This record gives sequence, C-alpha cells and structure tokens, in this order.
Amino acid sequence: MNNKTALDNFRTDIAGWLDEWYPAVLRPLDAARDMQPETVRNAERRWQRLRAEQGWLAPTWPREYGGAGLDKDQARVLAQELRRVGVRPPPISAGLSLLGPVLLQRGTPEQKLRHLPGIARDEVMWCQGYSEPGAGSDLASLTTHAVLDGDHFVVDGQKIWTSHADKADWMFCLVRTDLEAPQHEGISFLLIDMKTPGISVAPIRLISGPSAFCQTFFDQVRVPKENLLGKLGEGWTIAKQLLQHERQALGSIGRGDLGRAQTLPELAKQELGSEGVRIADPVLRAQVAQCELDSLALRLTMNRSADAASAGRGGDHIASMLKLYGSALTNRRHELMMTLLGADGLGWEGPGFDDAALRTTRQWLRAKGNAIEGGTNEIQRNVIAKRILGLPE
Ligand SMILES: Cc1cc2nc3c(=O)[nH]c(=O)nc-3n(C[C@H](O)[C@H](O)[C@H](O)COP(=O)(O)OP(=O)(O)OC[C@H]3O[C@@H](n4cnc5c(N)ncnc54)[C@H](O)[C@@H]3O)c2cc1C
Repeated sequence: MNNKTALDNFRTDIAGWLDEWYPAVLRPLDAARDMQPETVRNAERRWQRLRAEQGWLAPTWPREYGGAGLDKDQARVLAQELRRVGVRPPPISAGLSLLGPVLLQRGTPEQKLRHLPGIARDEVMWCQGYSEPGAGSDLASLTTHAVLDGDHFVVDGQKIWTSHADKADWMFCLVRTDLEAPQHEGISFLLIDMKTPGISVAPIRLISGPSAFCQTFFDQVRVPKENLLGKLGEGWTIAKQLLQHERQALGSIGRGDLGRAQTLPELAKQELGSEGVRIADPVLRAQVAQCELDSLALRLTMNRSADAASAGRGGDHIASMLKLYGSALTNRRHELMMTLLGADGLGWEGPGFDDAALRTTRQWLRAKGNAIEGGTNEIQRNVIAKRILGLPE
C-alpha cells in the first residue's frame, strides 16, 4: 500500500471513530447551544478523558509513554479531522507543551516511564520554576541553590510568578549547583515533587482577578539525586531548549483557533448584525477580516516551520519570531473583541452582564501577560536582532 492510500485509510478510520465517539453536544452549531452548561461541561470532561486515553493529547509520543505513536503525517491528519468536527487543540500546559518534549529527548528511560504517561493522560500537573524576584529576563542570575548531600540535593531559595504552583503535583526547576562556575554553567535542572516537605506556596492576585500566579519558597527541600534531568551543570542548555517549546506554544495562541468557543466573525455578527453572510459594519468587517487573515498566515508559517524543523532545516531561534508576532496578534484580536462588545465589554462582575462578555473582558486583560511570559517582547527582539539578523550588540 502506498503512503497516500495508507493515509487516506487512516483518515477514514479517524473520521469513523469521531463520528461514533465525539459527543454531538460539543459539535459547532449543534442544538447544544440551548443546553444546560452543566450538560456541556460533563460531555467536555468525558471527551477529554477519552481523547487522553487514545493518546491524542500527545499524538506523536510513543505509546509506552502515553502517546498515540503517530508519525508526523498521521498527526497532521488527526489534527485536521479533530478540527473538522470542532475539537479544539489541548490548552497549553507546562507538562504537555514545555517539559514533555524535553523529557522525551533528554530524560533517562526511568524518568520518561515515570513522568510522561501522567503528562500525556493529563493526570499529573506540572509547573515551571524559572523566574525569581531578581531573575526574570536575566534568568541566568538565579540564586535558588541546591547542594548535594548523599543521595539528595538540598534546595533553598525562592521562585516567583510560578503559574499554578498551588495546584501542581510537580515542578521543573532551575537551581544553582555550582557557585564557582561561570554564571550559565553552574545551573542544573531538577524535577521536584511539590509534596516534598519544605516547599510552601503563596498565591498572588492580579489585575484580572484571582490569578494562577504564586510565589514558591524552598526551605531545605530534599530532592532525590535521580530527579536531575541531564547532567549536573547542564541546566542552562536544557532551559533554553524548553524555552523554544514554550515560545512556540505561546506564539500559537495568536493562531486564534485555540480554546475559543466562538470565532471572531461569529462574535462580530452577534454584536453588529449581518447582511447575508457579511458582518454589517464595513470598517469592523475589514478589521476582523485582516485579523483572520493574519491568523491564517501565522498558522501556515507555524506549519511550515514545523516541517522545516523535522527536515533538519529549522533555525534555532524561529520560536522567538513566532512568539513575538503571535503575542502581538493575540493582543490585537482581544482589543478587537473589546471593540465589538462595546459597552458590554465594560463589565467586571455582577448582574446585567452575560458570562461570555465578562470572560472576554478578563481574557483581554490576561492577554497582556502574553507579551511578558516566556520572555518579554523586548527580549524576543533582542534574540531576533542578535541570533537571526546577526546585528552587533
Ligand atoms: C502570564 C505570565 C505567566 C508566567 N508564568 C511563569 C511560570 O509559570 N514560571 C516562571 O518561572 N515564570 C513565569 N512568568 C514570569 C516571566 O517569565 C517573567 O515575568 C519574564 O521573564 C520577565 O521577567 P520580569 O518579570 O522579572 O521582568 P524584568 O526582567 O525585570 O523586565 C522588566 C522590563 O525590562 C525589560 N528588559 C529587561 N531586560 C531587558 C533587555 N536586556 N533589553 C531590553 N529590555 C529589557 C523587559 O522587557 C521588561 O519590559 C510568567 C509571567 C507572566 C506574565
């Protein structure tokens, strides 16, 4: 059987499976629009479990690690078929989007078997312990340190802006293991169980209301030696590799097709009315069309860069370009959504505002953080200037 026929058969199998198992209430334009939110939420939860069991949260990971063992072409067909019935890509998470790919590449067989299946099944939640009060953009100046004591590292210090640290089961964490070595060479990468005695977490509130942010404190936290990822002192190399995945994932928010129940044109028609299939207001119609076109261009660029990377032709720092453009586009999209909502977008809480409008307002505020997380826009510009354009310091 040639490759095309095999892929066609694969597509038919996937489509058949989805027809049978993807709940009708979650399909676009289904009668479910009038259903109880609780019914839809339950269906969504059941579907997410089913999807994880199929290995479809990490389709290209080997089956033994909880993936579906698909090759790149099969994974693309799967993504197309999922999109066709209206399934959104899984949300960006520290385990699946950031640590998983690095663990696959650099973990020992024991580390992979221990951690990857839990990530792929969405059963174990991870957080990222990079930033510190004195180390954000200048991450290599971090001071949280770990000293080897027998079979354990003993960790002391503080992290900040740790998203979801209060709920996470595990943290991947940068620690200084050599105070004498040059700044970038004295850092190691540890996997830390958040239940270990000596870890305490304090949530931080944000402008957009209660937030996922936390401060995380380490007081004589004993971490087994086998939880070191890579070699001692190799943490900076691993950290940078993980940041590429993070930047790519954060940039992908700009694609506009992640985690959104209602599309921008749908929102525009709802708020402004329509003339046939066209959004009624010509000025906003043009802005919506431009935003949709730019999102499509970003999607295609991301696909092209993924293809180039798997053919060994990708530049190392392309993720910085995608992140910078993606976060600008995300913010433009949210500004436009607020314009479309008009006075309905001015709500904060309480009666008189519908839940979807309130969510849009909070997401507009949250989107501002997209230009900071994973490295600020200024830092991405520095990387592009230095590493891609080769400009002088
Ligand atoms: C939504 C969100 C989620 C986050 N989640 C996590 C998480 O889970 N784990 C984690 O470890 N961290 C997380 N962070 C922290 C994030 O990585 C840092 O905020 C970011 O790296 C910037 O560091 P900083 O806040 O210390 O700002 P600073 O580094 O102090 O920067 C302040 C300002 O100076 C500018 N600046 C700094 N250096 C330069 C330079 N060399 N050239 C030009 N301009 C410069 C910056 O662009 C910025 O505008 C998160 C942040 C946000 C907003």
